[in-house]
Amino acid sequence: MFVVTPLTQTTCYICRTTSRLTCLKCRPRPTRSRRKYTATTTGTRDRHAVSCCTVRNLGLGPGLRFHTTRMSSTGVPEYDVCIIGGGIVGLATAQELILRHPNLKFAVLEKENELALHQTGHNSGVIHAGIYYAPGSLKAKLCVEGLKLVYEYCDKHNINYERVGKLIVAVDKSEVPRLEELYQRGLVNNVEGLSLIGPDEIREREPYCKGIKALVSPNTGIVDYGEMARMFGKHFKTLGGEIHTEFDVNAFRQVNESESSTNKGLKCPILVEGKHGKTVRCRYVITCGGLFSDRLAQLSGCEPNPRIVPFRGDYLLLKPEKRHLVRGNIYPVPDPRFPFLGVHFTPRIDGSLWLGPNAVLAFKREGYRLTDFNISDTINALSYRGLRKLAYKHLIFGMKEMYRGFVKSAQVKQLQRYIPDLKPEDVTRGPSGVRAMALGPDGSLVDDFVFDMGSGDIGRRILHVRNAPSPAATSSLSIAKMVADKVQDSFSL
Ligand SMILES: Cc1cc2nc3c(=O)[nH]c(=O)nc-3n(C[C@H](O)[C@H](O)[C@H](O)COP(=O)(O)OP(=O)(O)OC[C@H]3O[C@@H](n4cnc5c(N)ncnc54)[C@H](O)[C@@H]3O)c2cc1C
Repeated sequence: MFVVTPLTQTTCYICRTTSRLTCLKCRPRPTRSRRKYTATTTGTRDRHAVSCCTVRNLGLGPGLRFHTTRMSSTGVPEYDVCIIGGGIVGLATAQELILRHPNLKFAVLEKENELALHQTGHNSGVIHAGIYYAPGSLKAKLCVEGLKLVYEYCDKHNINYERVGKLIVAVDKSEVPRLEELYQRGLVNNVEGLSLIGPDEIREREPYCKGIKALVSPNTGIVDYGEMARMFGKHFKTLGGEIHTEFDVNAFRQVNESESSTNKGLKCPILVEGKHGKTVRCRYVITCGGLFSDRLAQLSGCEPNPRIVPFRGDYLLLKPEKRHLVRGNIYPVPDPRFPFLGVHFTPRIDGSLWLGPNAVLAFKREGYRLTDFNISDTINALSYRGLRKLAYKHLIFGMKEMYRGFVKSAQVKQLQRYIPDLKPEDVTRGPSGVRAMALGPDGSLVDDFVFDMGSGDIGRRILHVRNAPSPAATSSLSIAKMVADKVQDSFSL
């Protein structure tokens, strides 16, 4: 059953000339199938005419987009592919898929009432260059590609960004060999423009920074990933995709396909169920659930491991009158014994400067305050052998991080290694983010991006993005391309 939404406007949506539907120039033409389509954009709230002109104006490629809300005989909306998770990875994937398959029906299902509320809206906002990641890994490849795609996308769609550059600074001799290794790694990963500099040049670039050697990455930048993700969502909708917010997916079921004798031909065998009785049907599903990616994978019969363990990162804010202390990104040389990059100085696109984040176990998957607690998340994390092994291995580091989380001056002390003039009174407490860290049962953090498919009839139709940690925001557009390739290979779209 197709629901055709009548267009009531009396002016052309695109060029505003008076016309019954859209003006001749902008009017959509019927599709080859000659079904009676009405051109609308997505979403139940703002249906409006959309045409080839709009699509071209958005710079999203040629073509005409038609949209109808397709319903099953029981009144459940039907799609070819549902993407679960309205974070940057899910939205980039949705945008890529609809660009490649303009005649198919896509929907994004997001549990919150807004897009990009979790990791995408709570991060450092750094466009990483790809220096740190193991050569040959997906992270290395997709980050280097992703950075270019982010800059191209921002240029094309007027999203504010700045190529502020980054210094990775060695402050004592023991760090220099690791810094040089990092430089070599960056070269192998094809990171452009890297160079090593000494103390004088460090001072020239960052007058208040103390260091004996530094790696310069001129192409590292900053952007608001929340804004970028919302733009992906906007384009997806303009191209005919639908976004259902407040749709908290809690089950996948296989339902019988329509019999060919009924002539309905709605081959949507997956029923996606959400809380409060919400349902949609579709042929295929892609999950990009961030902090809930393991639970979504389990819903389709995948292995529970790697398990997601949430690690909160608290930022400090530099007071505006001290903003002159830092110009660009200043990062420490990462210690390979620990799974995090270490606290850093990050300018924000709004002109402020964030310091941090630290890394402490969070007692709630989406708990941004120190006091946030969820009993099932806590039991789930603490009862996991992998976490206990990790905690045992990094007990001292973990305790120090917790202490620094409570005591501001202790965190500032760490930062003073790079900017000695920084004082505890120069900073205030800032926002927090929660990282979805995928942890194996042996206590090892899964470093690379992980994609997974279940088994059985339903599992074969669901692709899970199980691990998309930093730099997944930088890599979102290249991850999206990879997922779209996988979809083409694995699903018969
Ligand atoms: C503190 C911090 C700093 C970071 N800094 C950087 C950085 O500087 N540069 C960089 O590139 N990356 C950085 N990252 C990493 C980056 O933010 C993430 O890798 C990226 O945002 C992941 O995007 P996502 O879409 O997978 O996850 P998310 O943004 O978390 O989105 C997942 C979405 O799925 C939804 N969802 C979950 N379960 C369900 C369900 N059952 N039904 C419906 N919807 C559901 C959630 O509500 C959420 O909106 C940082 C991360 C953190 C936490």
